[in-house]
Amino acid sequence: MDLYEHQARQLFAEHGIAVPEAEVVALAREARSAAERLGGRVVVKAQVRTGGRGKAGGVRLAADPAAAELTARHILGMDIKGHTVRKVMLAQPVDIKAEFYVSYVLDRAAGAFLAIASAEGGTEIEEVAATRPEAVARIPVDPANGVTEAKAAEIAAAAGLPPPTLPVLRALWQVLIREDALLVEVNPLVRTAEGLILALDGKVTLDDNARFRNGRWDNGGTEPGADPLEATAAAKGLNYVKLDGEVGVIGNGAGLVMSTLDVVAGCGARPADFLDIGGGASAQVMADGLSVILSDPAVKSVFVNVFGGITACDAVADGIVQALETVRLTKPLVVRLDGNSAARGREILAERAHPLVEQVTTMDGAAKRAAVLANAG
Ligand code: GDP
Ligand code: MN
Repeated sequence: MDLYEHQARQLFAEHGIAVPEAEVVALAREARSAAERLGGRVVVKAQVRTGGRGKAGGVRLAADPAAAELTARHILGMDIKGHTVRKVMLAQPVDIKAEFYVSYVLDRAAGAFLAIASAEGGTEIEEVAATRPEAVARIPVDPANGVTEAKAAEIAAAAGLPPPTLPVLRALWQVLIREDALLVEVNPLVRTAEGLILALDGKVTLDDNARFRNGRWDNGGTEPGADPLEATAAAKGLNYVKLDGEVGVIGNGAGLVMSTLDVVAGCGARPADFLDIGGGASAQVMADGLSVILSDPAVKSVFVNVFGGITACDAVADGIVQALETVRLTKPLVVRLDGNSAARGREILAERAHPLVEQVTTMDGAAKRAAVLANAG
């Protein structure tokens, strides 16, 4: 679960990382009084769980409370990468002398934590990382030892960060460990004209496996997630994860869906999602699943892979046929039914004879067909 900036900064403050004074509001007129309390001049910042707000016009300086209200009115309701701004944070502005980048992230591929740090933080960090990777230090951190004084010094030296950032490097590690986070990022961490080190922006991703310990951040589960399609799917109660390919995948059972992703990848295409319809596979679940997948503009073909066990294939076929009554199929659908009542299931689909629905009896064959259709589309 990703936290909002104002939640991340609260964790930073609790662990001793200095942040500018700020308030969060949902209405433009509240922005005026908040700005008055903060001293008049404020930075107005969109609260959305995505990066690049500055470049999208979601971070603006306001000279006085009246300007803060106008600016808040402008930013509230704005769309930033598919996220609607529902709250803004007003923060005391800072006279920035230098911007740094610091993060700790779980590197699953390396099976380790990684400190990533740079003396060239700010909104161009991705550009810096791409064009001059040597300006971004990447130092493994052994979680058994954590960020000791020596480790903090090693990270700072590798990145070219000044010594006053050392306590922040150590405190940020405490945020990661104590709050069950998978990622903590400060960009920018700034040095002010007065020589203070402040976290001006924060990103924290908590480990969902520790949700039972992080109840205070659980906003009831009704808030939109990081991805709009995942949020829609979650609202429909679907077990859906957005991926970045072009073959929509629906299957029954997490194991089958995961092997389906592998087989699709083996056929030279990339899966667009993970969607497990589980046992039962009602027409409603099939219709909901298809509508979410078809609304993903990246999807070029859809592969439904079902192995009938407790769920009989004829029930799944009925589900697909009923789903086609409510969802307009706009992309080719390849269906593979096998196992319990597969023959009857195939008959039902054949009788429906939808021009965009094809049946292939083997998983490999169906994956190949879906991949060919995706690559052609
Ligand atoms: P992001 O674009 O979503 O990462 O949003 P940030 O909170 O990082 O803000 C983007 C940029 O706005 C930062 O890199 C800063 O350069 C600038 N910025 C944010 N807050 C302040 C501030 O208080 N004073 C000044 N001068 N610049 C700020
Ligand atoms: Mn930032």
